Amino acid sequence: MNPRRVTIATYDRTVEAAVAKLYLEAGGISVFMINEPMVGLDWLSSVAPGEIQLQVAEDDVAQAVAQLEELARNRQPAGSVTDEEVCLSCGSPMDLAGDCCTECGWTYL
Ligand SMILES: [Zn+2]
Repeated sequence: MNPRRVTIATYDRTVEAAVAKLYLEAGGISVFMINEPMVGLDWLSSVAPGEIQLQVAEDDVAQAVAQLEELARNRQPAGSVTDEEVCLSCGSPMDLAGDCCTECGWTYL
């Protein structure tokens, strides 16, 4: 028996496709990566846009898409504030040059 496969996502970079594949497999979904760069090429190198496809069995599509959306939500946007720049009391962005939070008055000292 050979279940029908559906492409649920395409990626430009192998590393992004691999992260998504591992994430889905951790959720119990069998994932097929199509058009992976050939062995011997730099694993992190770019291929043509959208060339790498992730496919899952037709029955797993809904769950797989939901998990990919969850993965995208969990990703920190580039350049977001780090822990050191946020007030530990109220979570407001904090100027590291100052001693206390301008929002709630919390201080490191
Ligand atoms: Zn604060």
